[in-house]
Amino acid sequence: MAMKVLRTYFTILIHSVKIYKFFFLRHYMKTLNLHCDYIKFQALKKALKSVDEIAPNQKLEGESKECLVVMVAVEKGDSKKSIQELVESIKKIATDVKTKNIVLYPYAHLSSNLGSPATAVEILNETAKKLKPLKVVQAPFGYYKTFELKVKGHPLSELSREFKIEGNEEEAELSDKERKRLLHQISKSKLDTSKIKENDHRILGGKMDLWSFNSSAPGMVFWHAKGLHIKNKLIEYWREIHREKGYSEISTPQILDKKLWEVSGHWSKFKENMFLTDYEKRDLAIKPMNCPGGMLVYKTSPKSYKDLPLRVGELGVVHRIELSGVLGGLMRVIQFTQDDAHIFCTEESLKDEIAKIIDLTYELYKTFSLEIDHVELSTRPKKKIGSKKIWDLAEEVLEEVLKEKKVKYVINKGDGAFYGPKIDFHIKDSLARTWQTSTIQLDMALPEKFELEYTTEDGSTKQPIMLHRVVYGSIERFLGVYTEHVDGKFPLWLSPNQIKVMTLNDDVKDYANEIYKKLFDEGFQVEINDKSESMGKKARDAQIQRFNYLVTVGEKEKEEGKIAVRARDSKDIKVMDLDKFIKKLKKEIESK
Ligand SMILES: [Zn+2]
Repeated sequence: MAMKVLRTYFTILIHSVKIYKFFFLRHYMKTLNLHCDYIKFQALKKALKSVDEIAPNQKLEGESKECLVVMVAVEKGDSKKSIQELVESIKKIATDVKTKNIVLYPYAHLSSNLGSPATAVEILNETAKKLKPLKVVQAPFGYYKTFELKVKGHPLSELSREFKIEGNEEEAELSDKERKRLLHQISKSKLDTSKIKENDHRILGGKMDLWSFNSSAPGMVFWHAKGLHIKNKLIEYWREIHREKGYSEISTPQILDKKLWEVSGHWSKFKENMFLTDYEKRDLAIKPMNCPGGMLVYKTSPKSYKDLPLRVGELGVVHRIELSGVLGGLMRVIQFTQDDAHIFCTEESLKDEIAKIIDLTYELYKTFSLEIDHVELSTRPKKKIGSKKIWDLAEEVLEEVLKEKKVKYVINKGDGAFYGPKIDFHIKDSLARTWQTSTIQLDMALPEKFELEYTTEDGSTKQPIMLHRVVYGSIERFLGVYTEHVDGKFPLWLSPNQIKVMTLNDDVKDYANEIYKKLFDEGFQVEINDKSESMGKKARDAQIQRFNYLVTVGEKEKEEGKIAVRARDSKDIKVMDLDKFIKKLKKEIESK
């Protein structure tokens, strides 16, 4: 072997060891491309016992002149996906060094992480086919070989290549030990309950199987079936009430191009709180707010004064980066559902629209028997956009409405956003804590930045006034506050645990299951406990779960075709017909 070959050999070894260490979990197909005067090779001995099955009919010796020798090691994780890249790379080098002769040389020493022989043969054969019309000689696979070659001396004569295999499922294949270590880390997210109160929504969420949290998704909620049931009910009610008040509902994408956030101004003001990603070399952001998407929907068709006021709602899922230290269950989350709406209106109807939002807010909170404690009106800050005239109008209108509605309010002078004044509602819960939830915000900036307009009665164009408003605020946070407010005792219409049917003894199992089936078919959240446990234990379990009604059946009920009903927090037991009970429940749900 010529000196040149020896030197190359060592380079390969050092090179491949280095790469292997650095990219332990990544997979690279490695090649070494040598432009040679000639190569001669010969198989000496089988390195793989099964070589005749995997790669039959191989030529065991050969030679080529004026050729590009491509030494290849197929590694773990390489798959057919790698072939195209390999072929293109070889073709490019062959063109660069001006040769049409290729020698594909299986060379295991390039890697200490070799893939399966069967896959390797498949990849090599397929590559040889795809290299045509180049003339390809394949050195045998699965043999110890001897070779002699002479590498040319020009700068392109020795080139190593690595192919990163992306999106390969095998890439993340871990050792069992490593997998166990990671799983342990993920599973460790146990809540420290020693410092939180019994009625904390995180404790109640565990007891009632509503939701959970895990460090692998910081500030995000794992909704269990029962928690999701409550969330869906909140949304259902929201849709109902908004439909009544003349809102429509839209949904805009989760990930949007950076350009949009530049136009909206979020890129310069809010970037630190945004999750960024990329796609086809474009910067994108996961939306922290729904507004810019809403602007684009507004712009899809020309609007006239007849279309206004336009009330458009969106229950958008938004993500905002928060310090992990301030995260706490549902109250402060990174991912949340905002019950957003944008209202586009004229100056003339602004006051009326604000009044309507205030009415809606009071109506919604009354349904949950949550008291609005006070309202804060934040006025123009020093740094602001928009004319004095429009600020005067906006602040005057907001204050006038609050006075007319006899709402108790305080003024936060200079605390408004640079683009408009706002009203914040603070609610008081059963533990006398106050929470800011609803907001009405006037926005002078976005309609201008997105060049929104509408045609007036006289045919000229004008910019609409825009309001952002949320009522629940974040559905997650609202639900956290509400769960603690009612101590997990949800009213029947919201409750994920409406009825528990329990058997007094095993003889009434069939009858109890009949009752359960009827209630289930009527659409109730009903469960049955027909285990052979004591009545005391069954009742206690149902109480922990905060079931609204406990239905007991024994011999007597079975004989009379009735049920014994006890309401949550009541000691009275009423024996009644199932039909009568169903009617009563429906009425209770109806009236919220
Ligand atoms: Zn908005």
